[in-house]
Amino acid sequence: MSRLLKLLPVMLLAACVTANPHYDERKTHHRPDGFANSDPTLAIGRFPWYEILWRNLRGDFRPLAEPAGGYAAFAAQWSAAPDRALLAARHEAPVVTWLGHASLLLQVGGQNILIDPIFSDRAGPQSRAGARRRVPAPLTAAELPPIDLVLISHNHYDHLDLQTVAELAAKQPTRWLVPLGVKAWFDAEGIGGVEEVDWWDVKSAGSLALHFTPAQHWSRRTPFDINATLWGGFAVEWTPPGATAPWRFLYTGDTGYSQDFKDIRRRLGAIDLLAVPVGAYLPRDFMQPQHTDPDDALKILLDLEAKQALGLHWGTFELTQEPFDQPPRDLAAALARRGLNADRVWLFKHGESRAVKLR
Ligand code: ZN
Ligand code: ZN
Repeated sequence: MSRLLKLLPVMLLAACVTANPHYDERKTHHRPDGFANSDPTLAIGRFPWYEILWRNLRGDFRPLAEPAGGYAAFAAQWSAAPDRALLAARHEAPVVTWLGHASLLLQVGGQNILIDPIFSDRAGPQSRAGARRRVPAPLTAAELPPIDLVLISHNHYDHLDLQTVAELAAKQPTRWLVPLGVKAWFDAEGIGGVEEVDWWDVKSAGSLALHFTPAQHWSRRTPFDINATLWGGFAVEWTPPGATAPWRFLYTGDTGYSQDFKDIRRRLGAIDLLAVPVGAYLPRDFMQPQHTDPDDALKILLDLEAKQALGLHWGTFELTQEPFDQPPRDLAAALARRGLNADRVWLFKHGESRAVKLR
């Protein structure tokens, strides 16, 4: 009996979190207990525990080898001193800075927009567990310029990091845009200023329009909340003075290759700058539905008619089998195979900024 009483809170918690308070039966990606992908046959996340165990044991979730020359040499090669004067200025025309992994700072339309920030040494539920960082964060939360808006693409530890979020929230009141279901996590941490978005919702920030866009992925923070919260990406549109069409940026969020990107092209228009994952793709039999490899990233680029792309989600944390120096090689080969210019997808150094040319 006492065992049952002890289990009761856990059972109640599981019961609470499995009901989706946002459920709208008219939306095909909504489920009574959470969310689904655009392709309804593709449910990612409900892996049997024994599959995760044997994949862990055989080493699916850590690199097969160190990068050539070792991690210290890799970190030195792929790190740049942040341009603090550039970061401190307000920018109308876009400036983008890679903060490592999938963390980006987008400065455009006079707004400073931070996306999926993680500056911690581990991506995981505790500071000692989780994927290990191998390249230092180029900046701390304290060193960032004032942030107007933080975008969170989904509730995975490498995109929604408690320590980083708490540091940002303590520094200044900030506005957060998060997928449906994620606000409860902020509420539990006592952090306000949070707005939830569903796929295709539009928000504004100054003169910018922000759209939450679909992606093929999943979410989980605990064993009880698999796909209980939504995932996706963000399009940011900035219309320069006198221009008739906006400059359009898309951060895909974590995603496998899917029809979603043709839908985004059709509904929003072509993309000027695409931020797309090019890492965490091996072993392919497990990662393919949820993480693009470099060639999938190019398929997305072509579907979106993206003029320029920036590769993310690689080279920072030990998440998957490919060695840290493999994504640049695979990306270069994929670009060459498709006859695309080698510079069509940028790979930045950690901390590197670029002013984006308007074309
Ligand atoms: Zn993810
Ligand atoms: Zn991720």
